[in-house]
Amino acid sequence: MSEIDNEQMNKIVALCKRRGIIFQSSEIYGGINGFWDYGPYGAPLRRAVEQLWWKYMVEQRDNVVGLDSTIICHPMVWKASGHLDQFSDLMTDCMDCKRRYRVDQMDDPTTCPNCGSKRLTEPREFNLMMKTFVGPVFDEEHVAWLRAETCQPIFVDFNTIRVATRQKLPFGIAQTGKAFRNEINPRNFTFRSREFMQMEMEFFCHEDESLKWFDYWKDQAWNFYTKILGIPEEKLHIYWHEKLAHYAKQALDIEFLFPFGWGEIQGVHHRGQWDMSRHCEFSKQEQDCKYFDQDRKESYFPTVVESSSGLDRICLMLLCNAYDEDTAATQKEGKDEDVRIVMHLPARVAPVQVAILPLSKKLEEPAEKLYHSVLKKFRAEYDDTGSIGKRYRRQDEIGTPFCVTFDFDTLNDNAVTVRDRDSMTQERIAIDQLAKFLDDKINPEF
Ligand code: ATP
Repeated sequence: MSEIDNEQMNKIVALCKRRGIIFQSSEIYGGINGFWDYGPYGAPLRRAVEQLWWKYMVEQRDNVVGLDSTIICHPMVWKASGHLDQFSDLMTDCMDCKRRYRVDQMDDPTTCPNCGSKRLTEPREFNLMMKTFVGPVFDEEHVAWLRAETCQPIFVDFNTIRVATRQKLPFGIAQTGKAFRNEINPRNFTFRSREFMQMEMEFFCHEDESLKWFDYWKDQAWNFYTKILGIPEEKLHIYWHEKLAHYAKQALDIEFLFPFGWGEIQGVHHRGQWDMSRHCEFSKQEQDCKYFDQDRKESYFPTVVESSSGLDRICLMLLCNAYDEDTAATQKEGKDEDVRIVMHLPARVAPVQVAILPLSKKLEEPAEKLYHSVLKKFRAEYDDTGSIGKRYRRQDEIGTPFCVTFDFDTLNDNAVTVRDRDSMTQERIAIDQLAKFLDDKINPEF
């Protein structure tokens, strides 16, 4: 980890709470560690990123189809995947300050990073799967698990989906949704949570073509972050795994430079034939786990290339990348300038894309009419309270890219002033051109 800026992180966390973007779950009871709620300005952001990913990975391709599976699956799924036996981290406790750590995340595993004590317990295995019971009897026979990743149901449903969609190899299946891990040490805001969202795509192909597809999906992921979400290349980094699972031919993580250091936002993994052969071994349903290739005239386990990303980490990346402070003119007493917090979020994922600001309450009726027409196409907000400067500040803080001012001239010239969040330039636009003007800027094609 390098270039750590905790002050920056604290500011982002504080802004997220103050503006209802993201805050602790169950806060009135003291919160629950590792669980976060997305408020009125966070939920639309997360939803927009998820929809964008779905459009990019599924809707715009003819070789990827979608799935929305249950969170609780047959427990054998997790036996076959190896999660029940191996999905664990080594943990240790400090006997003096009582803190708990993941051993692989400690710089010096013999010393407590908090109090410096050397009295640490022997490292022990801790399984990350979250347990529940299905049915009225709470015994071992009725144990089930909340999924720890969204991809396992994809492997299990592979053949049903293939037959239903008449896909031939190579093709992919994608799914977005909740995953649960009983993380030992949730930290860095939403970066390491116990309940989080994943967006995964499993691509099924022949082993001979798998490295080519690995390269392809690596580039597609990079493109999503840099071109579609506008993250600068210098803030992203590819970490190639040196130690590979025995079945894998390649694995990498895409990392982002957070204020707390480099952190993984997505993995691209070559998984060999591991998943399909394991589910075959445990389910004994060979016809559901193998593929008969008409061209090659053979039956084989598909090789899987996985693109696996964390939606909450992508949102956190967007928030960290967007956060900025500059100075702007103010009408506050005794001050000409004031610190302005501005979130430079990409327009297509901004929680509010257009704010309609009437210059006077007297303009309420026509301004509200305009607001209702804008609302049909964009995420919009109407604000008529406080000075126009204050209203701009409020919108800047939640990353609204365009503020539309409705003034008295509008009644005569049928035009409004559109103020750009980033350049702060203002442009007069005819109302009948407004939707197209905004659409070109908010939803550029990709
Ligand atoms: P880490 O090493 O950080 O624990 P991982 O390598 O176990 O992550 P994967 O199992 O590859 O992660 O999961 C794929 C993606 O899911 C990650 O790249 C990350 O974006 C997201 N993810 C994993 N664990 C968490 C978590 N606890 N909180 C939020 N997102 C997570």
